[in-house]
Amino acid sequence: MRPVVTKFNMSNSTKYVFVTGGVASSLGKGIISASLAKLLQARGYSATIQKLDPYINIDPGTLNPYEHGECFVTDDGAETDLDLGHYERFLNVPTSQANNVTTGRIYQSVIEKERRGDFLGKTVQIIPHITDEIKERIQLLGKEKKFDIVITEIGGTVGDIESLPYVEAVRQMMWEFENDCCVIHLTLVPYLAAAGELKTKPTQHSVKQLLELGIQPDVLVCRTEHELDLNLRKKIAKFCNVAVNAVIESRDAETIYDVPMLMLAEELDKVVLEKLGLTAKTTPDLDSWKAFLDRHKHPKSEVNIGLIGKYVELKDSYKSISEAFIHAGAQNECKVNLKWIHSEKLTPENVDDELSGLDGILVAPGFGSRGINGKIDAVRYARENNIPFFGICLGMQCAVIEFARNVLGFEDAHTTEIAEDCKYPVISMMEEQKHIANLGGTMRLGAYKCELKPKSKASMAYNSDVISERHRHRFEFNNDYLEQFEQNGMIATGRNPDTGLVEIVEIPSHPWFVGAQFHPEYKSTVANPHPLFVSFVKASLENKK
Ligand code: GLN
Repeated sequence: MRPVVTKFNMSNSTKYVFVTGGVASSLGKGIISASLAKLLQARGYSATIQKLDPYINIDPGTLNPYEHGECFVTDDGAETDLDLGHYERFLNVPTSQANNVTTGRIYQSVIEKERRGDFLGKTVQIIPHITDEIKERIQLLGKEKKFDIVITEIGGTVGDIESLPYVEAVRQMMWEFENDCCVIHLTLVPYLAAAGELKTKPTQHSVKQLLELGIQPDVLVCRTEHELDLNLRKKIAKFCNVAVNAVIESRDAETIYDVPMLMLAEELDKVVLEKLGLTAKTTPDLDSWKAFLDRHKHPKSEVNIGLIGKYVELKDSYKSISEAFIHAGAQNECKVNLKWIHSEKLTPENVDDELSGLDGILVAPGFGSRGINGKIDAVRYARENNIPFFGICLGMQCAVIEFARNVLGFEDAHTTEIAEDCKYPVISMMEEQKHIANLGGTMRLGAYKCELKPKSKASMAYNSDVISERHRHRFEFNNDYLEQFEQNGMIATGRNPDTGLVEIVEIPSHPWFVGAQFHPEYKSTVANPHPLFVSFVKASLENKK
């Protein structure tokens, strides 16, 4: 009998938007995705964004920051691509493990299923098994029914061997979810100075490549340094089979936070909603976004803050920290000038010269011994000179080590991460973690509760007694020494209520000295600038005065 063929999802109400990239990498797919989601959210739709990364690592947790920049951490403890940070900062909605999928994870899951016998003796292949797994991951967020629209960003550039299975999965979904899908292709329209012209050919070729893979994009977002005039838009539209109003200009912006406004002016959200069969039901409510932009662009004062880290050549390594300063700066109506200082280049001899003139000092997170001495020297300088100090994760651990060495007189104090046999292991590993051999996913990861000491800097900043913050580390404050620290002026002002682990240390006699074992930067958003960053910038401003 002839089978009855139906499309699979007639009743599915979740809409799927795919964002692919062509011509070149680094065109800003993450920011375009986040901006589109912001506009849809401002029109009353609930949207989330997912990143599919074609590399074979299970997650970016074990990657060196020089590879892809910072590793972002979600509440549920997933180590993810830094684009998820942008999604959260724009939308003010937490992401989770489901929002970031890598090829490694896809294959791991398919191979586990094969070993379990789930495929009933079939030959396991890229199509359908890998593509089915990809489609399942895309729909996971849709199935939660929390979101009207799921935006899926495909990492890499169309034509890469690695991204082929993802593009194929998108092609299949477009067939299965015909009326519920929209594909946005982001391309580059380069300006040839010698010809004095913008060139559309790379875009045409990139779209041809997509067409060869079975995908007709609905919208083209064209990254350009110059205006895309109507003639050029018509030309691109004609060659690429898209409507003229679906050729969107994406000019280089002064700040990433301008991009939603630029996309609104180009009506990207309207074009996408139309394609999805949704109405642009309200005018987007972007008042608070605009107010933030206004504060960000018209600061009334400025401060110089030193960021001491060992990856300062690649600023993406500290993306969430630098963005948190933008949010906190705007909140204080103040421009934060970040001075990036390489911790390997700091010595007791030059620390005065290098750090003088700073209004605040932040010592960054990190792993391993490289640059640790410079970080400890920076802490000492901030502590002794009463300069507002903020230590994050390893930065907090350095503050503890510095205090132990120079105030408690424990000359040999260290973290067991670097000096396993030191006499005073003031930072050490939790017993449970000592036997773990694998490096991937073996840290204290994700959100943990923390109780704050009343009247501490932290509790005043948060205006709360209990908070939840995200972690990513193996080593902890060694509670055997807590009494000695507290008797001498470094106080544990935040502790985990279940384990007693020290999460925040402060020096109350100092104008503003706070070290956090967690990563506050991951939770700072445009709508909710992080209280500790806001308070630190404020203290730096006061110090300047
Ligand atoms: N390396 C330290 C630890 O694992 C700090 C980690 C960090 O700064 N994220 O405990």
